[in-house]
Amino acid sequence: MNLKSNLFTTFLILFTWITASSQSVYKNSDLEISKLEDHVWVVETTDKTTMYIIEGKDKAMLIDTGTKCEKLDEVIRQITKKPLYVVITHAHSDHDGNIRYFKEIYLHPADTVLLDKSYKGIIHFVKDGDVFDLGGKKIEVSHMPAHTPGSIVLLDKQAGICYSGDAFGSGQVWLQLRPYAPMKTYINSCKKMEKLMDEGITKIYCGHYPYVKKAYNKQYIVEMRQLAEALVNGTAPKATPHPQKVSIGSENPMMVTLGEATIVFDQEHIKF
Ligand SMILES: [Zn+2]
Ligand SMILES: [Zn+2]
Repeated sequence: MNLKSNLFTTFLILFTWITASSQSVYKNSDLEISKLEDHVWVVETTDKTTMYIIEGKDKAMLIDTGTKCEKLDEVIRQITKKPLYVVITHAHSDHDGNIRYFKEIYLHPADTVLLDKSYKGIIHFVKDGDVFDLGGKKIEVSHMPAHTPGSIVLLDKQAGICYSGDAFGSGQVWLQLRPYAPMKTYINSCKKMEKLMDEGITKIYCGHYPYVKKAYNKQYIVEMRQLAEALVNGTAPKATPHPQKVSIGSENPMMVTLGEATIVFDQEHIKF
């Protein structure tokens, strides 16, 4: 291959990459849907919540249901008409906000306490290791508690992708929320995620994609774990007050940062 055709190939790859990474396929006043990977779409809402749609040969999966999205079921049908599993990564309102549009949802039982009690549909409980077979595509559940007791991530091991909800945050992991988990629980979830990344997971798509617009790699999880360990050991960088207070969180949340990773926590409720 000569220099000219090398250059052409480089251009072609770059062009494909640029167009592939910004393929908007649907938009309304609440949200925009873009193709993210082969048979994977990201749904970004105007208030920066995120859903993912994964399609197999037989079935499809919707990960989380966002906040303000009128007729979300009909919107999802614009992308796929296959029978849909609706899986909630955890029961915070920015992730289960539109479950009313769906007859059945899947959730980890430890988050039932946080779930909107007005939901009338069927709740299926998932556990660590459960596998959804979409036809030519398997999605596995992995329990990653700390952000909430029932936080799960969803793994496409064949594609090397993890959909992480808020389990490791989207730059910031919020551990200042009730019910507070011991920091040790978070460290264990990070270690579990690191192991999965050693075994072939390369990309983490987080629960608030509009803030980051990329997949995280292992380094992010390592930094999260090291930061959590430093908090336990008392060797963490100096924490500063976190500007945002939420109704289910502590009065005086603090934040501490290492590299790309920030942990938001409550000094009084930090249980080691
Ligand atoms: Zn959350
Ligand atoms: Zn969230």
